[in-house]
Amino acid sequence: MVPHTPSNTIDFDAAKLQRLGYASRSRQALRPVSLAQLRQQLSLQLQTSLEVERILGLFFQEVQRLVPLSALSYQLQACDLRLELGERANHSAGYRLSHQGEYLGELVFRRNQRFSDDELGQLESLLASLLFPLRNALLYRSALQSALRDPLTDTGNRIAMDQALQREVDMARRSLQPLSVLMLDIDHFKDINDRFGHATGDEVLKAVAAALKDSLRNIDMVFRYGGEEFLVLLSNTGREAAQMVGERLRLAVLGLQYLVEGQALDISISLGCANLLPGESAESLQRRADNALYVSKREGRNRLSMAG
Ligand code: GH3
Ligand code: MG
Ligand code: MG
Repeated sequence: MVPHTPSNTIDFDAAKLQRLGYASRSRQALRPVSLAQLRQQLSLQLQTSLEVERILGLFFQEVQRLVPLSALSYQLQACDLRLELGERANHSAGYRLSHQGEYLGELVFRRNQRFSDDELGQLESLLASLLFPLRNALLYRSALQSALRDPLTDTGNRIAMDQALQREVDMARRSLQPLSVLMLDIDHFKDINDRFGHATGDEVLKAVAAALKDSLRNIDMVFRYGGEEFLVLLSNTGREAAQMVGERLRLAVLGLQYLVEGQALDISISLGCANLLPGESAESLQRRADNALYVSKREGRNRLSMAG
């Protein structure tokens, strides 16, 4: 029997959206306008955000009042940015964006119907209103990112570390998944500085950080929290696996063939590893890893100790 749908059925989601004012707003937003009007509105609207995703989302939505589109994609490899809005389609019009000689990425419009010359002209004219807000958003994004990174080693800095540690502890607790922390410190680093100078010391720091990142899956989880001290966050990683990762890092640094004045330097690290206990705080986890690191130092360096 075919189920009978009563005439007073309410589409709950649509009703909720209407109540929140979305339905009428999107109808209004999609009302066609002239090119000049849209350009003017866009330049005002796009300046209301500094978020790349939000700016492109608004742009995609508003452009459709004049030129129907199925999708918009945007890519800026240098900033690791890739965005796909809408649904893919056969025909495309791609643009290389730049503002006063500065490259701002590739943008592609897509739909199933060929674009006319008129429409391409309109899209190009509208793109002009996107450039300035997009450039500002990219600058803002890179300022935010550099505030969280250590410029010498290109690892996360202390601010990023504190944030990530708290976030990962909260997440591990909520999802009942394991979490491990490795703290590591370069052995006798002062000797390297004393023998070869600070500049060489800096190069060694960079080489060690690169070796750590090369040996890890998620390189965003490496932080420099002191001069020659790093912390590695291993989400969803239990005791044995963390111990294996720690050993891998120790061997990776030991295997570095770092030459100074034709002489190979012996570089090693000591590590401490701790696994999150039920109900434990981020500070306590970090403290236990640090204590384990000091056990490694005390017992002769170039080794890994597990926190009890
Ligand atoms: P240990 O094995 O006990 O860790 O010995 P160590 O010599 O590595 O330890 P110590 O803490 O005595 O020395 C750390 C040195 O790291 C001292 C400091 O001058 C140096 N250092 C800290 N930050 C930097 C940096 O950014 N660049 C360079 N080149 N050296 C740094
Ligand atoms: Mg140290
Ligand atoms: Mg040291």
